[in-house]
Amino acid sequence: MAIAYPDPSSETPSEPLGAGLYIVATPIGNLGDITLRAIDVLRRATLVACEDTRVTGRLLKAVGAHTRMQRYDDYASDETRRRILDRAHGEAVALVSDAGTPLVSDPGYRLVREARAAGIAVTTIPGPCAAIAGLTLAGLPSDRFLFGGFLPVRDKARREVLEELGAVESTLIFYETGPRLVRSLEAMALAWPGRTVAVARELTKLHEECRPGSAAELAAHYRDHPAKGEIVLLVGPPVAGREAADPDALLAGALEDMSPSKAAASVAKATGLDRKALYARALELKAR
Ligand code: SAM
Repeated sequence: MAIAYPDPSSETPSEPLGAGLYIVATPIGNLGDITLRAIDVLRRATLVACEDTRVTGRLLKAVGAHTRMQRYDDYASDETRRRILDRAHGEAVALVSDAGTPLVSDPGYRLVREARAAGIAVTTIPGPCAAIAGLTLAGLPSDRFLFGGFLPVRDKARREVLEELGAVESTLIFYETGPRLVRSLEAMALAWPGRTVAVARELTKLHEECRPGSAAELAAHYRDHPAKGEIVLLVGPPVAGREAADPDALLAGALEDMSPSKAAASVAKATGLDRKALYARALELKAR
């Protein structure tokens, strides 16, 4: 779809923007999703704080903005943050991330907190956010949801987070990467065998996909078809009576008279869960 952005050369010079920090959401894949307000602020701000000047430079060029950029993330030095905030006292400073809504698994929290503490006006220019886009696609309850950011990489830490979130009566939303998707789905298959999960991938892009199923089904699918691109992983709320197949309980029972490997094979057969993941879990249970 060709997008007709307002032509900067045909506009009469507009009033300068009021001083302050402007939090500007940007597209998560489809440039057409940028808002008119975002374009306006990016053009009229005197500084754009961004994660990567090459990424944001391409966006600014596409929307006809010639604003100076300054690299910023939450690991920036106090000095860098202070300089950006000094500017925001007297000028319009925009904050963007590489894609989507700043502060949502992206830099910005410290800057906004300190801007508020310093009495600087903070304005939000809302727009694309992968978590919300995934929620609108997945067909899971959307009245209550919890955004869990990225799950931990290490198996034990991930399992602890899943245990902690297990009782939350809400749809859960996580950000995920292709290489880690199957491990996360396997962990979810063990923790939440009865819940509906959805993998929302490449949102707003050419190969957008949203695939619902149980965690075990999706783990099997993505084991055979490794997922490429960017991913939001969504999990429906607990459903009464459907969490019955507790793999830990099944494994513990099987381990009473079987080796870990036989116990894993037997529970895998009964539940359809991944035998390797069950075997790893059986070893852990045995070591307790
Ligand atoms: N602040 C961003 C937002 O508002 O969506 C998220 C930034 S976070 C560093 C990047 C993660 O967001 C990716 O690893 C992926 O999980 C998710 N994501 C970003 N763009 C996406 C897209 N087009 N489709 C699916 N997930 C996406």
